[in-house]
Amino acid sequence: MKRTTTPDVITVDEQGRESTVFALKRSCNGCGQPLGDLLDRDLDADGHAVDVRAECPHCRPVAEAERAGCRTWLLTPRTIARVDDDIDQLRVFAKGYWQPGPDGKNRVVGLRIGDGPDRVVARWGDWIIRHPDGRWSVHKAPTGAAS
Ligand SMILES: [Zn+2]
Repeated sequence: MKRTTTPDVITVDEQGRESTVFALKRSCNGCGQPLGDLLDRDLDADGHAVDVRAECPHCRPVAEAERAGCRTWLLTPRTIARVDDDIDQLRVFAKGYWQPGPDGKNRVVGLRIGDGPDRVVARWGDWIIRHPDGRWSVHKAPTGAAS
């Protein structure tokens, strides 16, 4: 079933009171972009939201990489400690990636994985991809995504 996007309907009664009728919406669980109206299939039998990244034009390559055997992580300030631990357990060097902010003070803006010329840098909102052959790549966050 194709997902539709029902627009909000705003009505004003005789007393001038405004009311809005709207359909619940579903956003991508990978990047947060809106996908359209919520559907029954968006929840599993236990009521948990299912993975809809394959429907998202931005995140589809990450979902396809997972199906091809890649391991992936979404990098955010909340996930960096776990991601760093996971990468350490793979015996790969990783550390916070620092850059000066608008105030000139250095701050962590992502994670550097590996050392030497093959290293990759992921920033907040990027997906880190570990390929079955051991290579690393980064799927950039959508332009304008919140960090
Ligand atoms: Zn997405």
